[in-house]
Amino acid sequence: MAKKMRAVQIPRAGGPLELVEREIPEPQAEWVRIKVEACGVCHSDSLVKEGHWPGIQYPRVPGHEVIGVVDAVGDRVRPWKTGQRVGVGWHGGNCGYCDHCRRGEFFACSIALLITGISFDGGYAEYMVAPAQALALVPDELSAIDGAPLMCAGVTTFNALRNSGARPGDLVAVLGIGGLGHLGVQFAAKMGFETVAIARGKDKEALAKKLGAHHYIDSQGSDPAAALNQLGGAKVVIATVTNADAMAAVLGGVAPNGVFMVIGAAGALSVDPILLISGCRSVKGWYSGASIDSQDTLHFSAFNAVHSMNEVFPLEQAAEAYDRMMSGKARFRAVLQIGAKS
Ligand SMILES: [Zn+2]
Ligand SMILES: [Zn+2]
Repeated sequence: MAKKMRAVQIPRAGGPLELVEREIPEPQAEWVRIKVEACGVCHSDSLVKEGHWPGIQYPRVPGHEVIGVVDAVGDRVRPWKTGQRVGVGWHGGNCGYCDHCRRGEFFACSIALLITGISFDGGYAEYMVAPAQALALVPDELSAIDGAPLMCAGVTTFNALRNSGARPGDLVAVLGIGGLGHLGVQFAAKMGFETVAIARGKDKEALAKKLGAHHYIDSQGSDPAAALNQLGGAKVVIATVTNADAMAAVLGGVAPNGVFMVIGAAGALSVDPILLISGCRSVKGWYSGASIDSQDTLHFSAFNAVHSMNEVFPLEQAAEAYDRMMSGKARFRAVLQIGAKS
């Protein structure tokens, strides 16, 4: 008889998070099985919970911020071996041969784009299987709880910053000090940017400075665009908030040739074309990254002491962890501790 494991699944769109017993899955060719140590709870898990992603087959186990240990390997898996510590993030795999993949645009794969916890079961479980293509190597120095949020919130901010065109010494602003922003500020400061944190109210200033921000702008107490311009204008703004008005208020603080990089899923954003034209400014989005980007994020974080601030829950309290995350009150990421030692 197959061995059993505990998992938390969503039985149907709009259904509850329920703790169930399932058979431990076997890895198919080119996939591995992972004994999960920790899994972060991300706002995008609500896409599974509420059925807002087309084509999800239920029941589905969510979770795309996974850290664990390779426990079994399928046929033709190279070069991964059992016992290696790995992470799995949002990008679960791509075909490798469509035109987009051939251009290195793996996120746009048109044949077989896989998303962890959406296309296949994710990390809210004691074991999961994942394509070998989706694995990031985890440095020994990094604990599972520390590493998990880096697999989505971390790689998204890290990869947006390192691909933003900003150079060391440039003024870079991080809009929003939440799950993404509190990591973004640390990455920006550690990458050598003159780092500005922008958030509502005075109360986050001390934390922002502790995370490495050189400047803090209270977007309630002052006009954040004017405040950025007083500092010379931002070469890059990384917008992590989910409020389009909060984004719009900062657009005017982007320096000539600067980039306003959107990584928070907000509503429609209106932009004055004159602002773009007159200063050669641009507004663009950034996708989190593929497995090697996650690996780079973990490596950078371990060597530069970038830490996610986490609230930790056991697997059986996944529903509480999810509600806490959705309430926006978590400081700053909720993480399920599954096989990891505390
Ligand atoms: Zn996520
Ligand atoms: Zn492809």
